[in-house]
Amino acid sequence: MSSRLRPSLPHLWSLRPLGTVAPREMAAKRLEAAPSQAAGPAAPSVALAFEDPSAFRVKSLGELLRALGVFHLCSFPVLVNNCGKLMSVARAILGKRGFSLFLRPSVYAQFVAGEDEREISQSMEKMSSLGLRPMLAVPIEEDLGESTGEKRYDDNMEAMLECVRMSHSNAWSRDPMMQLKITALLSPELCVKLTTLLSQQKYDLDLLVRAMNGEKISFPGLDEKETAHFLCSLRRLNKIAEASSNKVRVLVDAEYTYMNPALSLVAMAMMKKFNRDGAWIWNTYQCYLKESRSLLLEALRLSRSEGFCLGVKLVRGAYMDKERKLAKQEGRADPIHESWENTNDSYNGSLKVMLDAISQNPQRYRIIVATHNEESVRRAAQGMAELGIDKDGGSVCFGQLLGMCDHVSLTLAQEGYAVYKSVPYGSVDDTLPYLVRRAQENRTVLQGIRKERDLLRQELRRRIRLGLRGGS
Ligand SMILES: Cc1cc2nc3c(=O)[nH]c(=O)nc-3n(C[C@H](O)[C@H](O)[C@H](O)COP(=O)(O)OP(=O)(O)OC[C@H]3O[C@@H](n4cnc5c(N)ncnc54)[C@H](O)[C@@H]3O)c2cc1C
Repeated sequence: MSSRLRPSLPHLWSLRPLGTVAPREMAAKRLEAAPSQAAGPAAPSVALAFEDPSAFRVKSLGELLRALGVFHLCSFPVLVNNCGKLMSVARAILGKRGFSLFLRPSVYAQFVAGEDEREISQSMEKMSSLGLRPMLAVPIEEDLGESTGEKRYDDNMEAMLECVRMSHSNAWSRDPMMQLKITALLSPELCVKLTTLLSQQKYDLDLLVRAMNGEKISFPGLDEKETAHFLCSLRRLNKIAEASSNKVRVLVDAEYTYMNPALSLVAMAMMKKFNRDGAWIWNTYQCYLKESRSLLLEALRLSRSEGFCLGVKLVRGAYMDKERKLAKQEGRADPIHESWENTNDSYNGSLKVMLDAISQNPQRYRIIVATHNEESVRRAAQGMAELGIDKDGGSVCFGQLLGMCDHVSLTLAQEGYAVYKSVPYGSVDDTLPYLVRRAQENRTVLQGIRKERDLLRQELRRRIRLGLRGGS
């Protein structure tokens, strides 16, 4: 992997309150007990139990043991909370090579597809044979204060173009997707400035489209240097979109609220240019935000008025703790829903909005239900059945992170749904800080992997019994 892939810095790692797990489980039970409001009397019932350990029969013994070991480590909050520091110490003691030798067969192999195309392909071929589809993710992102020169952004663009090529040119490339972090190509400082400007005035999407086409546009509120960088960034994004159009669906990630409006503006302009006949560029909606429903409704309105197809990645959101901390420091209202239950209501409500839109016009709207939450997945599957949306028609698909909640992904794939695994790739050094942050952001999910661990153990016991009986 090229040294272009630079991971996010550890100071972005967030801490999640431990107390969220028990209420989550209770709420999940309450939600399960409540019948879906959308369910009509004659609606077919979808039974997705996610309880069947046979989903893990496809895993090798080594993979079972590795997953159990890694998940066991992830069950110690003290380890997850301090894993960034622990990794730094281990790297200092073991050196680059020793550290890599230690991590490659364990945590890295669990969560990362590989470093070069051969390794990535091996990992993807296996996934493809299990019915899972690729969503490659290049682990580059930046936050305020990390910006570097135009050359770095150009190098990042080359890495993204390589990701586009790999995503569609292999035997495992089935209707591929990839994730794109705009802050790898456009400075976070400018995103913040644009976000401030957008709160005072609207930017016409056509201005951005014309800039993507190479016109020298001057944007209101930006000085000469900022304009030059914005134009270069829009052309970089244009190159990636041109390379991926009709081949790979590009899913723009959502990041922090202090820059999301700028990211959405750019994503919408890309949609306006490239989504005329199909959804090739998608945007992400974080349902932990109080404003997420209105943002989604606005995107639906814009897609109709501007005449483009809308692709939606629906997530709960990964930056809760930092968002809350910042809001408190700045004396602003917390942008995040008060409770996990409210975030769930928000997620399920937005899911329903999208499913209704898709049932009316499946060519125009698409959604990836990007969650590890079984209840949300069940609701989506039930909603699809009730509205007559094809399981594998492409307008609704599911997404989980590589190495997490495989019982959800494999069960869905076995039932014939389109399921993607978000797959980061790169060297140990490039990807680990990124993965550490993912682990910490998703601590509530990781602590909820007890069920996956139980299922893995059941499968291991089954194999031991089988072995003792001589494989009969
Ligand atoms: C394919 C894919 C792409 C992704 N892309 C993005 C992206 O672009 N941007 C991004 O931000 N995230 C992204 N994520 C990460 C995603 O946001 C996390 O995986 C997700 O938040 C974990 O929640 P969950 O839906 O799996 O389920 P759960 O485990 O049910 O929910 C946990 C989530 O609920 C929310 N939550 C927890 N406690 C509270 C509380 N007390 N109050 C309010 N809300 C609470 C938080 O968002 C937390 O992460 C992506 C995930 C996947 C699988």
